[in-house]
Amino acid sequence: MLLTADRVIPGPAGAPPIEGGAVLVEAGRIVRVGRLADFDGDGSDRIDLSGHTLMPGLIDAHVHLALPGDGTPFTAYALDQPAGVHMAVAVKNAATALRAGITTLKDCGGPGTLTFELRRAGELGHAQVPRLHLCGRPLTIRGGHCWYFGGECGGRDGVAEMVREVSKQGADYIKAMGSGGGTPHTMSWLPAFTPAELARMADEAHRLGRRLAVHCLCGAATMQALAAGVDVIEHCGFITGPDTPQRFDPAVAEAVARAGVPVCPTLSVGDTVLPHLEGRDRARWERMFAENIEQTSQLRAAGVRLIAGTDAGWRFTPFDWVAREMAILQECGLTAAEALASGTSAAADALGIARETGSLAAGLAADVIAVPGDPLQDLAALRRPAFVMRAGEVIVQHGS
Ligand SMILES: [Zn+2]
Repeated sequence: MLLTADRVIPGPAGAPPIEGGAVLVEAGRIVRVGRLADFDGDGSDRIDLSGHTLMPGLIDAHVHLALPGDGTPFTAYALDQPAGVHMAVAVKNAATALRAGITTLKDCGGPGTLTFELRRAGELGHAQVPRLHLCGRPLTIRGGHCWYFGGECGGRDGVAEMVREVSKQGADYIKAMGSGGGTPHTMSWLPAFTPAELARMADEAHRLGRRLAVHCLCGAATMQALAAGVDVIEHCGFITGPDTPQRFDPAVAEAVARAGVPVCPTLSVGDTVLPHLEGRDRARWERMFAENIEQTSQLRAAGVRLIAGTDAGWRFTPFDWVAREMAILQECGLTAAEALASGTSAAADALGIARETGSLAAGLAADVIAVPGDPLQDLAALRRPAFVMRAGEVIVQHGS
């Protein structure tokens, strides 16, 4: 199948767009990318996307498939609703993302083995799901952030055992809650695991060929994760106490930049929660969102690699939102090309899946979208894909 469009953006920041470009797809993989004029005209099976730009399918590098994203208090939702409800929600969320051109999701934690089961259902053809990069349950201390997903563990042997357990179940990478978070009675301003526990977790993950992503809402948690050998920092917050403003720490930003560890700042949470709040709650989130934008801008200025992830499912964050996250990252100082890469090639690099997806190049999976006009002129075009292909299968064509 030959896809043709006004231009092709191969993906990596710096790789120039190909005007009058084409992408040849066979058996689910990309065979060739180039100028249409250079292709031999067999043309038997051609999709003409004139007026559009072909580019890699989007990657949302931080979602929670099992959560509803409708503001339901999540602890009660996770504990009170049965597994079947969680699965139905996950199936719906996966389909929403895929139809929005998000061909890869990194799930950052769900209950038990649910996300592995969703992936299996997709492989068997019972559900239309994006490519899923999964951790299963997030590792957390007893009573820690998201403890209700079933990943409580402690002690050096205990955390190593949990790394082996989720790996056995199908984890592509290991996720740990390095500080408290939105779960009641957890402390987002303090590291959760001990340095020795986190170091053992990273060693065991790496020994089993998996990367370690750590949720860090305070600077101390980020420093501890860096010392342990973390591969991705989620959020990278600078919370200082239960009700005090965040305080950006340039020494932490420099350390993250020096280590070359990518950060997924999940700015969409604040962006999407604000319309639903009023009074004191709204004032608190307005302050936090402004702080997060400012801190992300400073991380960027310090040279930290940023990737796009929305935290979809959490609070009010929807599953078709990563294009908006990329636009917010542009507001934080990324160029248009870098913002585009933050939700495609740079995200694939950070996840360790760049040899499979995230760019348009011969040999990679045919995860391809077409958006109207030129997204490098206006990233809002990413929110209106006219064509979505996942591993060679056409999911959306001209809005059908
Ligand atoms: Zn999250």
